[in-house]
Amino acid sequence: MEDLKKIIRDIPDFPKKGIIFKDITTLLADPKSFNRMIDLIAHRYIGAKIDQIVGVEARGFLLGAALAYKLGTGITLVRKPGKLPYKTLQKTYQLEYGADTLEIHQDAFKPGDRVVVADDLLATGGTMAAVVELIQELGAEVVECAFMAELEFLEGRKRLPQEKVFSLLKF
Ligand code: 5GP
Repeated sequence: MEDLKKIIRDIPDFPKKGIIFKDITTLLADPKSFNRMIDLIAHRYIGAKIDQIVGVEARGFLLGAALAYKLGTGITLVRKPGKLPYKTLQKTYQLEYGADTLEIHQDAFKPGDRVVVADDLLATGGTMAAVVELIQELGAEVVECAFMAELEFLEGRKRLPQEKVFSLLKF
């Protein structure tokens, strides 16, 4: 796993001063690394009777779509406000400064659908906690939240359902 970790690069002071951003675009762009990352994550869910993948805008769409293809499921999008065309359920959540909102289509799931949620990176967990609430309010079951990478020192998994968080690469 160290070789996959090494290919992710640190960008200091992005998107603002004092933050070291993990740039996963280098991993996505490298054919062998991208392939291996998707295979390793998808392998967890083979035979787990997953009905639907949920991808979180925007980098979560990339992992989510590849997982859905591998598992033979569909993918449901969680998007920033005003992007989804049909009726939506919204969730507003707090950031360090200010708030953000995410939306999902109201008719995204059948009752009891088993869902894996995909995003690129787990930091404080605020984004994924909001997505989990949206999915549960619509009557689906979150089997696991899957990330390419996790910033463990931020303890984001404490804000998510216990035993339902998987990250491939831990920093
Ligand atoms: P959280 O809500 O867990 O604090 O932040 C996670 C969200 O912000 C994810 O959707 C992720 O895409 C983005 N994010 C936060 N920090 C980073 C980072 O260092 N690298 C990348 N690639 N995404 C980040």
